[in-house]
Amino acid sequence: MSDLVMKNINKVYPNGVKAVSDFNMSVNDGEFVVFVGPSGCGKSTTLRMIAGLEEITSGELIIGGVLSNDIEPKDRDIAMVFQNYALYPHMTVEENINFNLRLHKVDKEEIKRRVDEVADILDIKAYLKRKPQQLSGGQRQRVALGRAIIRNPKLMLFDEPLSNLDAQLRTEMRANIAKLHQKLKVTFIYVTHDQVEAMTMGTRIVVMKDGFVQQLDTPKNLYNYPINKFVAGFIGTPKMNFLEGTLKKDGETVEIRFVGNDAVIKAPYSYFYKTDPKYLDGKTPIVIGLRSEDISLNLDAYKDIEANIKIKVSHTELLGNETLVYGDINLESDGFKDSGTNVIIKGKDEELSEGEIITVALNLNRIHLFDKDTEQTILPRVPECNVVKCEIEGQTVRFLGQTLRLPPAIKGQAGADELHIPTDAIKFGGDIPAKIVDREQIGETCLLAIEVGGRRLFAVVDTPLSKGDDVCISIDTKRISLWKDGTEFVSSLPLVNGFTGTFDRIQGIAEVEKNGKIKHKKIQKFMLSFGDAQFDCPESVTQKLIDALTTKKALRSSYSFECSPYDMAIGKSAMKATVLEILDYGTERFAKCKVGEQVMYVKTDTVLSGAVELYPDLSKLSIVQKDMNIRII
Ligand code: ADP
Repeated sequence: MSDLVMKNINKVYPNGVKAVSDFNMSVNDGEFVVFVGPSGCGKSTTLRMIAGLEEITSGELIIGGVLSNDIEPKDRDIAMVFQNYALYPHMTVEENINFNLRLHKVDKEEIKRRVDEVADILDIKAYLKRKPQQLSGGQRQRVALGRAIIRNPKLMLFDEPLSNLDAQLRTEMRANIAKLHQKLKVTFIYVTHDQVEAMTMGTRIVVMKDGFVQQLDTPKNLYNYPINKFVAGFIGTPKMNFLEGTLKKDGETVEIRFVGNDAVIKAPYSYFYKTDPKYLDGKTPIVIGLRSEDISLNLDAYKDIEANIKIKVSHTELLGNETLVYGDINLESDGFKDSGTNVIIKGKDEELSEGEIITVALNLNRIHLFDKDTEQTILPRVPECNVVKCEIEGQTVRFLGQTLRLPPAIKGQAGADELHIPTDAIKFGGDIPAKIVDREQIGETCLLAIEVGGRRLFAVVDTPLSKGDDVCISIDTKRISLWKDGTEFVSSLPLVNGFTGTFDRIQGIAEVEKNGKIKHKKIQKFMLSFGDAQFDCPESVTQKLIDALTTKKALRSSYSFECSPYDMAIGKSAMKATVLEILDYGTERFAKCKVGEQVMYVKTDTVLSGAVELYPDLSKLSIVQKDMNIRII
């Protein structure tokens, strides 16, 4: 069981600063988790909420299976180590360490035994009788650790414990804390702004920025698969190189062009199978990320494909075993600055002079791609979609030597020549033969690479299949879309309906029985309102809204709601809608409805038409408070 679970945790300070937004994480017993990010990103606030030193605005903190939002800090079985040690100056090291045990009137013999054990672990036996001012910074920090671990806590929290120490001592203490974790085998949560500290200590790392979790993963995965440009630039030294450019898919080739350099690199499309297809138009500006070790002065370094570019050298830094070469792909550049064209390359012992033009090779196997504006990866580890060439013949689509019959819901496909198949729309069982050529477990997700008609496709599955298996697949036609030259001819069925509304309180009358008589009593009722429709708000939803926001704020806020077409029904006294058409996907039918200015989809077994009323399943709504963007459910 996860020992610590944080669900939709938000923190808004009384002055209105939103320090933490929608923090979600499960920490297993004995893990070493590091929260890392620049100053002010919400790391300490999150840690302090776990410790109980800061109130949680909304969300659930579950420790050892128990909802702990309101449990007193002293009853949480948690120890915390701070940056400033917080030792009592008038007590000896021994008294500082055993202070808590003495406070709890633990037996004297037992106290002595535990102090000895802790002093042994931390190697501080020699100065148990000294006062803190007679110790060095590193020794004081070890005493602070001793005071924390003597209580045998279930959870140890560290708030930048090493930032007061010099570089050498920090490295030493890093190793000590890692060893301590191995010895104690309890859960450690450690806050730092130093990415090297995070990478060397954590088994998992949470990278934060502006109160939001950017990525939560192992050190290796953060380095290899950063989810956005921020994480890519934050993790690793030297920083990842970011070059602006475009990608253009032309048949089975992709052309890479760069801003500031006229090189055109032609790569097989297979390198870009996972790339979001809308970025392959040769126009959309993107950012190409390459680490300094993935650009080589040796033009034969990455033999499988020629991807060379010219660079103007600005200067070099000799680091002993390697040289960092600073330069720019803009050959007109003057010096090294953050220009969107500058690069740092790891070399050996090359002697290069300022202004020299050199040719380097790029390792396209390790390329990272980001949207220039949102900075999110467009080359995700788990891709959303496969793009294949296709031919349309009436109600059939031919692709990779296969024929797929299109259901009546799909119309207007004539002229399309590209089929987009979402990775979760590939189902096992069917009549399209395929072979599983790779299998990757990525967190909770199993990604299969399958070969169909000689082409690799990706599928997200929950079926236990292995590499080498021959299988047959089918494709969920309500999820496909058909395109030509960047224009969508047929869209997939939307997976969610979005709408806005409010949470209201009304006065109602209830009938109550008292002494055999029916009486009428005034009651308050909470409602959810969408446009002109109002619904009784389920008790659990009311509770969550009030817990998260207080009653006053909950009633004053407006909300975004989301509900799947499967969780909407046709009901009475509900949202007034007009059926626009019935989408028949063969095994399933959906009514496409107009509600006010919005379009919504509802799963239906009957053929409807005209005016209807839509009723969302209120227990399955997802709800976000709009102003502060707080996810309630
Ligand atoms: P970090 O630990 O990542 O440096 P913090 O969690 O300390 O960040 O702070 C996150 C944000 O919350 C910052 O903008 C900070 O100014 C703000 N903040 C922290 N403590 C308080 C407080 N007591 N009152 C108001 N704002 C605070």
